[in-house]
Amino acid sequence: MAETIAAIATPQGTGGMAVIRISGECAIKRADQIFQPVRGNMPSAMDGYTCAYGYVMRGTERLDDVVLTVFRAPHSYTGEDVVEISCHGGRYLTGQILRTVLCDAVRLAGPGEFTKRAFLNGKLSLTQAEAVADLISASGENAMRTARMLRDGATFRRISGFSQRLLEMLSDLAVWADYPDEDIPGVDGGELASRLEALLDDMRGLLKTYDYGRILREGLHTVIVGKPNVGKSTLFNALSGYERSIVTDIAGTTRDVVEEQIRLGGVTLRLSDTAGVREAAEQIERIGVERSWQYLEDADLVLAVFDTSRELDAEDRALIERLPRERTICILNKSDLNRAWGSINFGSFEELVISAKCGEKLPELEAAVERFFAKRQVPAEDGLIANERQRECLRSAVDAVQEALDALQMGMAYDAVTVSLDGAADALLQLTGERITDKVADTVFERFCVGK
Ligand code: GDP
Repeated sequence: MAETIAAIATPQGTGGMAVIRISGECAIKRADQIFQPVRGNMPSAMDGYTCAYGYVMRGTERLDDVVLTVFRAPHSYTGEDVVEISCHGGRYLTGQILRTVLCDAVRLAGPGEFTKRAFLNGKLSLTQAEAVADLISASGENAMRTARMLRDGATFRRISGFSQRLLEMLSDLAVWADYPDEDIPGVDGGELASRLEALLDDMRGLLKTYDYGRILREGLHTVIVGKPNVGKSTLFNALSGYERSIVTDIAGTTRDVVEEQIRLGGVTLRLSDTAGVREAAEQIERIGVERSWQYLEDADLVLAVFDTSRELDAEDRALIERLPRERTICILNKSDLNRAWGSINFGSFEELVISAKCGEKLPELEAAVERFFAKRQVPAEDGLIANERQRECLRSAVDAVQEALDALQMGMAYDAVTVSLDGAADALLQLTGERITDKVADTVFERFCVGK
């Protein structure tokens, strides 16, 4: 039986209230020892989901008046007996109550230990447990809404659907292998291949959501590019709200890449201001320039800045050539000055005329970024690959299904197909944290009454 653990469940610091959570076999017994109800039952006589008002006692001293809630296993967050003490806030007082709770039978919980127990006790799948962590650290409305969906099991359900389809195929193959003499229809290779292809498509679709998960976690990787002096640093500062890039009239003063995480409307951006994109002679600047091109390749969104008060030149045109159209917004800057050129035909580029210096038309830029983000959005109710671990597991599963399909198409024995599909199912069970070994056998007997 796991040890009993306790911790302050609310953020450290001064606040109106705080919650101390105790979970494990001794949770309720310990509560009896340190809690004195104003009236009514001791915690051990309380039903689950009920609370009592009373005092936390240190010896004969009343430390605080609190509300104590009892959750009885398995109907609690961790699946164990849980006691939650809602006390007055404040670092010192909550620390004192926690120290009173801790004893030989109750130790301090490690990071994430309550959620780990919830997972070990089958209250949450691994993808759900991970979403709990994401919920806590969510930096915006979109991230929070998505994490909530995943916490409710959206990814788990999607993966379980894949597993189910794999297990059905495996059970067909197993029946065929184990009972060749029975009167059971054989496995149709062509039909199996199309089932595998459909499954691969769906799995690859889920794999693609990883990018959106990364954007929610880290922000939209946004890079500001343009030749020197067009106003990149000015735009960067206008967006991030304070002077950080060095803004000067001397061409090429933003020497390297400056990064900042900012919120623009409902979108989090990881914004990079690059050194001027041009063929600089100076060594130090050239390094910056090379990195700029790399940033341009990797970015989710490119803000390409042009100066409308000067004629477009060969450098601007060279940049336009290299811009990824579907990921770029062209910023025609310095609209407050006389325009040397009107609207140039940037083809399918999205164009915005602004003055970074005067802050003119920045709300339009904000709206354009929000529209761009909306296009990348993935409906979270279909599940989402939220981190590297999940991606690795799903990738292994995809590779294994592809292997099975190749084996089938090359006319190899069904045993080879089975081995690959077993590998895929295993990778998916690792993804959700299940890994129940006899699952294949169970499915066989569920679907066929061959055990006469
Ligand atoms: P960068 O080299 O592309 O980063 O350009 P900077 O942001 O350093 O700007 C170069 C010069 O252009 C500075 O003197 C800025 O004040 C000026 N500048 C930037 N944006 C505007 C604008 O919208 N209007 C005007 N009039 N000047 C601007």
